[in-house]
Amino acid sequence: MTDELLARAVALDEADPLAPFRERFLPAPIVSYLDGNSLGRPLKATAELMDDFVRDQWGGRLIRGWTDGWLEWPLTLGDRLGELALGAAAGQIVVADSTTVLLYKLARAAVDARPGRRKVVLDTDNFPTDRYVLEGIAAERGLTLTWITADPDTGIHPEQVADAVDEDTALVLFSHVAYRSGWLADVPEINRIAHEAGALTLWDLCHSAGSVPVRLDDWGVDLAVGCSYKYLNGGPGAPAFAYLRHELQDSLRQPIQGWMGHRAAFEMGHGHEPAPGIRALLSGTPPILAMVPMHANLDMLAEAGIEAVRTKSLLLTGFVLDLADEWLAPLDVEVASPRDPARRGGHVTLRRPGFEQLLEPLWESGVIPDYRRPDGLRIGPAPLSTSFAEVYQGLELLRDHAGKHR
Ligand SMILES: *Cc1c(COP(=O)(O)O)cnc(C)c1O
Repeated sequence: MTDELLARAVALDEADPLAPFRERFLPAPIVSYLDGNSLGRPLKATAELMDDFVRDQWGGRLIRGWTDGWLEWPLTLGDRLGELALGAAAGQIVVADSTTVLLYKLARAAVDARPGRRKVVLDTDNFPTDRYVLEGIAAERGLTLTWITADPDTGIHPEQVADAVDEDTALVLFSHVAYRSGWLADVPEINRIAHEAGALTLWDLCHSAGSVPVRLDDWGVDLAVGCSYKYLNGGPGAPAFAYLRHELQDSLRQPIQGWMGHRAAFEMGHGHEPAPGIRALLSGTPPILAMVPMHANLDMLAEAGIEAVRTKSLLLTGFVLDLADEWLAPLDVEVASPRDPARRGGHVTLRRPGFEQLLEPLWESGVIPDYRRPDGLRIGPAPLSTSFAEVYQGLELLRDHAGKHR
C-alpha cells in the first residue's frame, strides 16, 4: 500500500500542469512545507523586484514615485486581484492596511449604514481577530452580538443563519473558508438569507484568496476583506484588501477619515470629504513597499489561472486525506475537515491530543505544518509551490513521529 501511495505521488506530479511553477520559488532548506495557508513562500521574482524597487523607484525616483504611479497602486492592484481571484469588476477593491484594520473599517461602516438595527450575527469559530474587532464595535455602538455555534469539524450552515437573523440584524460576518476545519461556506445562500432580513454581509476571504475561486459580484457579497500573505505569497505583514460593492459606495462611510481617502488629498483643505468610489476606504499613506511582491504574485496567478490552482488544491488535499486514512488513522489521528471536495477549502486539519509535542521534532526533520490549539495540525499545501512528493514525504515523517510520541 505504501508503495502504491508513493507511485500515486509520482504519477500525480507527472500529470500536474502547474508543476513548473515550483521552480519559480526561492529554494528553502526544508523537506516539506505544509503551511502555505499561514505564510506563502517567496518567489525568486519577488527578491528581484524588491531590490529593483529600492534601487530604481525609491532610490531613483524618490518623491516623484508617488505621482509616477504609487498613488494608484492600492486601486490598480485591487482591480487586478478582483479580476484574477475574486470575481469582482473594477473599482470595488482597495489594497491597504491589515485585515484587522480593514475589517474594523468595513464593519463599522456597515452597522452605521443600518441605523436602528441592533444585532450583528457571527460565529464562535471565526478567526479571533474577527471576533475581537466585532466585540469592540458592539461596545462602541451599543450593539448585541448573536453568536452561531459553528460545528468545529465543518462550519456554519445556512439554516443556522436563517435562525439567527431577523429585522433587527444590521450585519452578518463569516469566513468563506473556516480557518480551522477548512469548511467552505455557502456564500450565495447565506447572502440571500441575510439580505431577505435586510442585513448586510461581510465575508473574510483570508483562507480563500489565491486558493479557492471567489465570485464576489455574482454571489451578491456586500463587503469582504482578506490578506495577501497566505496563498497570495505577499510576505509577512503584506497589506490586506477590502471589497465594497459598487451600489454601497455612496452610502457607506468608513470611520478612519485620513487624508489619503480625501477627495483632494493634496489640497490639504479644511474638513474631510471622502474621495468618490473605493478610494474612500483608504486612510493614511499606503504601504507601497509591502505591495511590491504582489506584482510578481499576480503575474504568476494570471499565468496559472485560479481554476487550475483550485483543481490542484483539491488533488493535494485529497491526497492528504488518503495518506491520513492509511497511515495516521491507525495512530488515532482524526480528520477534522470536510471530505466532500465541494465543501473543502485549501487545507486539511488532523487532530490528536498531544499533537503540540510533535511540532518541534517535525520542524527538526524539515517538515513544517501549522499547529492550532488545542490539538489540530493544519496541512496547507499551496498548489503553486508544493509537489505531491513533498506532501508524501511530509506525512510520512508525521506518521513516524506520531508513532513514536503516543
Ligand atoms: C490570517 C487571518 C486573519 C489575519 O488578520 P491580520 O490582520 O492579517 O493579522 C484574519 N482573518 C482570518 C480568517 C485569517 O485566516
